[in-house]
This record gives sequence, structure tokens and C-alpha cells, in this order.
Amino acid sequence: MLPLIKTSIPPREILMPRLEEVLYSGYVAQGEIVEEFEREFEKYIGSGYTLSLNSGTAALHIALILAGVKEGDEVISTPLTAEPTNVAIKMVGAKVRWADIDPDTGNICPNSIEENINSKTKAIIVVDYAGIPVDVLRIQAISKKYNIPVIEDAAHALGAKTNGKKTGNHFPFTVYSFQAIKHLTTIDGGALQIQDKELYEKGKTIRWFGLDKSKTRLENNIQIQGYKYHMNNVNAMIGIVQLENIESLIQKYIDNGKYLDENLKGIEGVELIKYYPNSEPSYWLYTLKVDNRKGFIDMMTANSITATELHKRNDKHTFLNDFPTTLPNLDSFYSKMVHIPCGWWVTKEDLDKMISLIKKGW
Ligand SMILES: *Cc1c(COP(=O)(O)O)cnc(C)c1O
Repeated sequence: MLPLIKTSIPPREILMPRLEEVLYSGYVAQGEIVEEFEREFEKYIGSGYTLSLNSGTAALHIALILAGVKEGDEVISTPLTAEPTNVAIKMVGAKVRWADIDPDTGNICPNSIEENINSKTKAIIVVDYAGIPVDVLRIQAISKKYNIPVIEDAAHALGAKTNGKKTGNHFPFTVYSFQAIKHLTTIDGGALQIQDKELYEKGKTIRWFGLDKSKTRLENNIQIQGYKYHMNNVNAMIGIVQLENIESLIQKYIDNGKYLDENLKGIEGVELIKYYPNSEPSYWLYTLKVDNRKGFIDMMTANSITATELHKRNDKHTFLNDFPTTLPNLDSFYSKMVHIPCGWWVTKEDLDKMISLIKKGW
């Protein structure tokens, strides 16, 4: 079966010597290797400060705290995402206000964001779903007009670009996950890319019990609620080695995605996803809309290719559905949406096989 997602670990001979070095160094907790990973990640992104963490969910949680979201506030978000995006909103005691999606892209619709803003709105979370960049320019304009901070959940979109700049450069907070199946894995881990230096310093304290690591325990005086969210040297070393090859790894997703874009055009029963002007997806999954989705999935499965909707609409989780909302664009998009593989493990033969199967029909 050709899988939809697959973990990428560097070759043994490259990774193991460096991993062993850390494991037996006597210092496996958060230390210099974590710092090194952060500085390398900053270089890769191109601006801002990297707060490394033990998960993407921790990054979302800290982003919401730094954005000033508190109990009883509202956060506008998208229902088309993995659950952590919206579970994190509940972690700060806030309520989730759904915006509908753009039926062309599957990403949050700027008009719907604007319609849902009210006096309780304290943040907007946008997700580059499946690796497709959100409508950055319009969302930036809304953020500015209403003075509401945007948190970009780029867990699917490491290396995706808008106007030639990678995710992580467009909003005050950008969330990455280094969980097993993401573009870059540290086994588990995450990062929050923060544009403001002061908020970055505050974030460092929040990720470690509210303590300032540059002072001794006795010199410290906890003033805010913190957590145990930091990364350790072992995961950071895996991250450093992964970063050395990340451009070419992501390029494989992109090349495969573009090949599918090119070759799945104009097929009956298939509608391709559109991308915003000047945006370059990093194709974590290849998303398309098909007629008779069940028939499509059955046909692909019978031919040993995974095809699935993968995510459940988050508004269908009772706990997350604070404000039940009609979402007509999501209804029609979700009923046709399916993901097929396009990652680094997918060969040219696999792509051609998928293309010819889809052309034959289902
Ligand atoms: C994976 C993922 C996360 C959470 O990341 P973890 O590292 O698993 O906590 C958040 N948002 C989205 C969209 C994800 O896919």
C-alpha cells in the first residue's frame, strides 16, 4: 500500500554518530544543542526568533498566551485542520468561533473571518491546510484593520512560501510541529517562530515553569504561569541533522505536487485546488476534490494507494463546537475532499500510476 504519510529519518551513518555523541555526553536535557537547533531554524526561516518546544501543541498554547488570549475570550479559527489547532484554544479557556473556508483552497476565508469578529475576538488562527499557504495578504490586512494578532499554524507547511518568503515570516506567531509525520521530525517536538524579541523572551519563561533559565533557582522569582514545554538536546540533535537536508526533502514534495497539478488537469469528476497569487505550497498532502468520493477511495484502495479525507471536521467534535455555525463552503468542500500521497517516498512510477488510474475513472 502506498502510504499517505511516512516518517523521514536521516541515514543511520549520518545520524547515529551525532546522536550517540549527545546521548553519552552527560547532558541530554535542554542545553547548547537546543540553542544550536534554534539558531539553525531561524536561518532556515529567514526572520524572527525560534522558541523550540516539545510539541506543536505547546507552540499553539504559548502563542495564544503571548497573544493575550484569556478565559472567556474568543478566537476565530478554521474547522478544517487537525484537532490540536482548536484544542489549544480551549487550553487557555477561550471559545472557538468558526470561520468558513474558501471553497477554492480549503483554507480559512478572509471574508468569513471579518464577519465573525466581535468585541471578544482576541486572536485569529489560520492553518496552511495540507501545505497550501493561506491568503496571507488579506489576512494581514484584516489583522491590521482590527488590531487582532494572527497565529499561523504552519504544522503542514514548513517551507511553503508567499511572495518568495517562507511561512514564519508573515505573522507575529507561526507554529511548527516536528511530530513523526510532519515534513521535519525530531520524533516529537515543535517550534514557535516569534517576530517580537520581548515576546520571545517571555515565551522562554513560559516554556519552563515560569523560570528564567539564565538565573539560578534561588535568584528566580516566578511571576507567571509556566509549563514544561521545552525541547531536549537529543531531539534537538535530530532536528539539526534533519535541517541539513530539509530543502531537498521538501523539494521532493513540491516536485511531486506540481507533477500532479500538471497531470490531473481537466479530468472529469476531478477539481483541483487553487493557490493564492504568489504562493508556493509545500504539498504535505496532495488534496483534490472528487465526485463520488467513496467510489474514488475504494478504487484507489483496490489499487494499493491510500486515499483518505484524513481529518475530521473539527466542528463535529462537541467539545470544540462552542458556537454551532452553518458552514456551507466547508460542507461542499469536505464532501468531495480527498488526500493522496505526494511525499518524498512517492516515485515517478507511483505518480504515473495514480494519474492513469484517476484518468480511467471510478
Ligand atoms: C500535527 C499538528 C499540530 C500539533 O503538533 P504536535 O507536534 O503533534 O503537537 C498542530 N496543528 C496541525 C495542523 C497539525 O497537523
